[in-house]
Amino acid sequence: MIAGAGCYTCRQNADRAKLPVRERIFDDGIWRVAHAFGSALEGWLVVVPLRHITGLQELSQAEEVGLGPLLRRLTAALVSVTSCSKTYVMLLAEAPGFEHVHFHVVPRGPELPSELRGPGIFEYLNRPKEEQLSAQKMDRVGAEIARVLEAQERGI
Ligand SMILES: [Zn+2]
Repeated sequence: MIAGAGCYTCRQNADRAKLPVRERIFDDGIWRVAHAFGSALEGWLVVVPLRHITGLQELSQAEEVGLGPLLRRLTAALVSVTSCSKTYVMLLAEAPGFEHVHFHVVPRGPELPSELRGPGIFEYLNRPKEEQLSAQKMDRVGAEIARVLEAQERGI
């Protein structure tokens, strides 16, 4: 796919300075972090490179170097903000129009029922409208995560 043409992520990246906090929780000019839309789980994050790539084999050196620390920092922020026990990290990028590489970084809380653990966590994505987190809620949790990430940078 041509970058930007039919790619939701590229359209978002192209205008990212104007995005609300839920769509731009983190942005270092290489990676951007957004709250997943259509989810019923607070803190379900998506990590995307600003460049249109569709497989990890295409990562640049800068993207590769930044990825590991970012996943660790996001996990620490999610533990702090959502009180999760751990995070799940998944890359599939199979839905039509969403082939742009994106990692799901998902908080797994201590109370999560066993049937929703592991791949069952995807039950929380693509929920009916009435179950989805509101934009306001995603902005609120996104801002909290952003604050923790900034504190990490200041070494607090
Ligand atoms: Zn793209």
